[in-house]
Amino acid sequence: MRDLIEEIFNGLPVPFSFGQILVRRRECAGFVLLHRDDASLDLLETYRDAEGAIGIAKYDDAGNYRPLKTAPNLRHGWRLELAAVEELRRALDYFYPGRLAVFAAWKSGYLKTTALRETLDRQSGMYRVAAKISDPQINDLVTDFCRSDTGCLRTILWKRDRNRVIASTKLPNEKFDPVYDQGTASGPPGSATPATAAAAATVPLLCQEACNLLVAECRKVVKDEDV
Ligand code: SF4
Repeated sequence: MRDLIEEIFNGLPVPFSFGQILVRRRECAGFVLLHRDDASLDLLETYRDAEGAIGIAKYDDAGNYRPLKTAPNLRHGWRLELAAVEELRRALDYFYPGRLAVFAAWKSGYLKTTALRETLDRQSGMYRVAAKISDPQINDLVTDFCRSDTGCLRTILWKRDRNRVIASTKLPNEKFDPVYDQGTASGPPGSATPATAAAAATVPLLCQEACNLLVAECRKVVKDEDV
């Protein structure tokens, strides 16, 4: 059976960036991963196995739990040295679960997307009510919740509904463009992406279907209106 991720990996130029991570080749062999903002720093805490990514990805710089792994709040100050491509693949999946597989499917033309209204319509139990959210409310919510600088670094591929209406008319067009590097929108005001990171090729984090957190926010909007 074809391994789409391996095919994609074989064709990837190194260095490349993936969300807030910069992937470089190690001088001897293997790979080094670090936060893109730390590209020019030497004094970083070093980890030497893919599982190190699990702990790094869990909390932000302030020690707060990161419920959304693609939020632009990956902590700084570490480097991950990995000996082989299998470890690289595992580590990237710990940092951004499922995103490599989605990218591989998209690259190969197999990726299916689901409109937000379809996702909401299939909710059950306490989330059923989320489907009552209005179109203008969706527009505002997606704008606030999914924006790349403070919300999420994924590129939105899903539409609002079956009529293929855009998810938010208030987000910039780049938010829907897999070629655009969402990571450049994630720095604090006035900050610049380090030159070495900016020069790297970018592998986008793709959003093919609204996440559970957005569904929960839709529910909240509806419930707040009922109060
Ligand atoms: S719906 Fe997609 S883009 Fe929006 S916050 Fe969830 S994962 Fe990110």
